[in-house]
Amino acid sequence: MSRNIYLDYAAATPLDPKVLKTMLPYFSEQFYNPSATYLSARALKNQLEAARHGVAKSLGAKPAEIIFTAGATEANNLAIQGLLQQFPDSEVLVSAIEHESVLEPAKLFSYKEIPVNEQGLIILNKLSNLISDKTVLISVMFVNNELGTIQPLSQIAKLVSETRHQRLAKGNKRPLFLHTDAAQAGNYLDLHVSRLGVDFMSLNAGKLYGPKQSGGLYIKAGIKLQPLIIGGGQEFNLRSGTENVASSIGFAKSLELAQAKRQSENQRVNDLRDNFEKQLFEKIPLASLNGHKVHRAPHISSLTFDGCDNERLMMELDERGIECAVGSACSASNDEPSHVLQAIGLSQDQARSTLRFSFGHQTTQTDLNQVVDVLAKLTAHNR
Ligand code: PLP
Repeated sequence: MSRNIYLDYAAATPLDPKVLKTMLPYFSEQFYNPSATYLSARALKNQLEAARHGVAKSLGAKPAEIIFTAGATEANNLAIQGLLQQFPDSEVLVSAIEHESVLEPAKLFSYKEIPVNEQGLIILNKLSNLISDKTVLISVMFVNNELGTIQPLSQIAKLVSETRHQRLAKGNKRPLFLHTDAAQAGNYLDLHVSRLGVDFMSLNAGKLYGPKQSGGLYIKAGIKLQPLIIGGGQEFNLRSGTENVASSIGFAKSLELAQAKRQSENQRVNDLRDNFEKQLFEKIPLASLNGHKVHRAPHISSLTFDGCDNERLMMELDERGIECAVGSACSASNDEPSHVLQAIGLSQDQARSTLRFSFGHQTTQTDLNQVVDVLAKLTAHNR
């Protein structure tokens, strides 16, 4: 094999050369502090604001509703902690399959988990029963990073709106907001915030062929958050510190490019993935697919190879130049079986037999055919 076959696009995407080109001047000649008052710095500030405008346009939002952050983890923390800190006797509901950057901040407050069914879709009537007079925030991710399952955000938004009306009728003044972590959605799905009906949306450029440690939070106009980082008052007082202009401009460009071709990419990657799974199930009948078969983003296949050890399989694939993810590794420092796979009802053994393959710009059918052949041989020996 001459080059590696990279199948971990849900973890990281390579920087698009077009994005890099847009960013480069801001590492050198455009080095100013955007808060300085001379002309060159003000011109730079305008470019930063143009990037904010670009992000807002991609989301159907207003520029003042966009805060640049160092990725989705920070955006999730800002939405959850920044809101809940203001309502100490309130609670937050999060889906059981959220990323740790949602689960961990939620655990700092009174929180409940919304269960999902065996295909990874949140159970709407369970959510409805969990909403109490104290609930101030519901956080449900757009696309799950291990399964690819797409959550019914518009239906959740409808439930939120009905609950608001009921509260008003009862004289309960506590607000109720909907947050979504859309870190896995931007390459394939419409991110228009009012069509989705969300109040907060977290994004991350590192999954959009943009720079890592870069992204943003959409905050619907009128909603107040407590900043996590205080100081000079940049980013509308919500994130102090000299702005990372290169990174924010890179984020805006990557989002613009991703949203411009999301429909064609969705179709292309969908076809690749369907062919991959078709061949795989023909050649490896013991394999099974996790997640929803229809409501799914095209770039993720979570596959359980019953009786195989996923760590060993992953390493054997790696030795053959095939790079994928161990579905059960839920964070950089934790080798507990994945909370996502357990939430959809997999046993610990099944979770430890699961690999995640994720696809993107460079993925070809020829590569995937090769992967199926290698997997067929390895899984036959590995059991
Ligand atoms: N949320 C989801 C769904 C993710 O997949 C990831 C990254 O793996 C994150 C949040 C964290 O993003 P970042 O690394 O930009 O902080």
